[in-house]
Amino acid sequence: MTENIAIITAHDGKNISTSTWELYAFAKKLKVHTTADICFFLVGEDTRKLAEEINSRTGCPAIAADVPNTGNYHGEIYKKTLAHLLAEHSNDYILAPHSISGMDYAPALSIILNGSCITGVEDIKAEGDVLYFVRAMFNGKLQADMQSQGVSNSSPLILTLQPGAFKPLQPNKKLSPKIIHGRFDFSEDRMRYQGKLPSPSQGSNLAKAEVIVSGGRGIEEQENYQFIEMLATIFPRAATGASRPICDYGWAPYKKQVGATGTIVSPKLYIACGISGSTQHLQGIRDSRFIVVINKDPTAPIFQVADVCIVEDLIKFIPILVEESQKRKTPKGN
Ligand SMILES: Cc1cc2nc3c(=O)[nH]c(=O)nc-3n(C[C@H](O)[C@H](O)[C@H](O)COP(=O)(O)OP(=O)(O)OC[C@H]3O[C@@H](n4cnc5c(N)ncnc54)[C@H](O)[C@@H]3O)c2cc1C
Repeated sequence: MTENIAIITAHDGKNISTSTWELYAFAKKLKVHTTADICFFLVGEDTRKLAEEINSRTGCPAIAADVPNTGNYHGEIYKKTLAHLLAEHSNDYILAPHSISGMDYAPALSIILNGSCITGVEDIKAEGDVLYFVRAMFNGKLQADMQSQGVSNSSPLILTLQPGAFKPLQPNKKLSPKIIHGRFDFSEDRMRYQGKLPSPSQGSNLAKAEVIVSGGRGIEEQENYQFIEMLATIFPRAATGASRPICDYGWAPYKKQVGATGTIVSPKLYIACGISGSTQHLQGIRDSRFIVVINKDPTAPIFQVADVCIVEDLIKFIPILVEESQKRKTPKGN
C-alpha cells in the first residue's frame, strides 16, 4: 500500500482555510524526500463540496466524513472521527495547522495512532536521508532541529505547522475526482460547544496602515510607549503596534499585537523599536515593504531582516529623530 502525507483540512464549513494551503505547500516540500502521496482528510457536517474543491484544485484524493455536531470544533468527536479515518489508511506523516484546534487534536492523535508529534514546525531540513523539522524554542530565542526515529504507517509522525511559516500554495488544476465520502455519528456528550469569543486582535487598524511603528520589551516600562506614539506622529496614515510581551504586560491592547498570533501586517514601512526578532514576530512582518530597526544590541536577530539598522537606545534616539524631522518640516523663517 502507498504511504500518505495526510493533510487535515482546516475549513469553516464553506471555505477552505489558508492554513490548509500552507500545509499543502509544506507537503509538497516534504514529498521531495519521500515516496509518499499527498492525501487530504476532512471532517465537517457537509463536506462533499469542499472535498470536490480540494480534489479538482490539487488532483490529490480527498477522504471526507460528514459527522453531526462538527459545525463548530468539537474536540472529542473530531479526535474520534480522525482517528477512525486515519487508521483506515496508511499514513507516514499527518499534517495539521498549529491552531487552537490543531494543538488540541494533534497530540491526542499521536497517542491514539501510536505515533509521535512535533508541534509548531517552521521549516524542514534534509541532511542525506535524515529529515529535521525546525521549531522555535524558548520564545523564539533558539531554533531546534527535531528528528523523529522510525517514521512509518504503524508509527506516523504528526506535525503541526506554525501559521505563516509556509507561503500558501494556491493550486489550480482540473483533474478527475477521487473522493471517498462517508457519514459517521460519534455521539459524545462529555463536551458541549459554548460559543466563540471575538479575537483580542479584532478592531485593529494595523492591516490598513501604510506605516507601523511597533514597540517591544526594549521600551522597558509602560510609559515609554509614548516614544512609539511620538515616532508614529511624524508619518501620515501611521499606526502603532507592539510585540506580544507588551500586550501581555497590559502596556498596549492586544489589538496592537503584531505577529503570528496577532495581526499579520504588510505596510510600506515597518519600524521595530526594541524588538529582538523572534520567529513569531517576524512571521507577522515579512510582507512589509521596508523595515527599519532601532535596537541597542547590534546582534539582535531582527537586524537580519532590516533594510535600515539603527544601533541606538530608543529612549534617547526617538526624541532626537522626531525633533529633527519636525525641524525639516517647519518652513524656514518660522
Ligand atoms: C505560541 C507563541 C506565539 C507567539 N506569538 C507572538 C506574536 O504574535 N508576536 C510577538 O511579537 N511575539 C509572539 N510570541 C512571543 C515571542 O516568542 C517573543 O517572546 C517576543 O516576540 C519577544 O518580544 P520582544 O522582541 O519585544 O522582547 P525581547 O525578545 O525581550 O527583545 C527586546 C529587545 O529590545 C532591545 N532593547 C532593550 N532595551 C532597549 C533600548 N533601550 N533601546 C533599543 N533596544 C532595546 C533588546 O536588545 C532586545 O533585542 C509568541 C510566542 C509563542 C510561544
